Amino acid sequence: MDNCIFCKIISGDIPSSVLYEDEAFKVIMDISPAAKGHAIIIPKKHFANLFELEDDFANKLLIVAKKVAKAMKKELECDGINLLQNNGEAAGQSVFHIHFHLIPRYHDDKVKITWTPG
Ligand code: C5P
Repeated sequence: MDNCIFCKIISGDIPSSVLYEDEAFKVIMDISPAAKGHAIIIPKKHFANLFELEDDFANKLLIVAKKVAKAMKKELECDGINLLQNNGEAAGQSVFHIHFHLIPRYHDDKVKITWTPG
């Protein structure tokens, strides 16, 4: 989609730090992390948000989230992970290509997810 920053990241027109990629998703490091290791899962096909997401992508998305979360927990030895997602400007969505945030957490890390991302 024209003028979609995440479509440009998916196509490689905008560089990103890629953690994982398969035929349907790209997982990248967030450019403005809420905490160290903050990653985002982006479907390669453009959907603005959850209201538009096709069931096939919805089903696969949680499997990818689980895979990345397990790798994150192992590699970063974090104690927990936030899986967050915003739909619509009123809910804090700033990039209108659906994505899921994965944020590693540690006991007493003092990270405040009062956060509406973006
Ligand atoms: O949920 P929301 O739409 O606000 O999240 C967008 C996220 O995309 C933000 O966390 C922002 O830092 C990230 N982003 C990025 N790379 C860009 C533009 C935005 O990682 N080039």
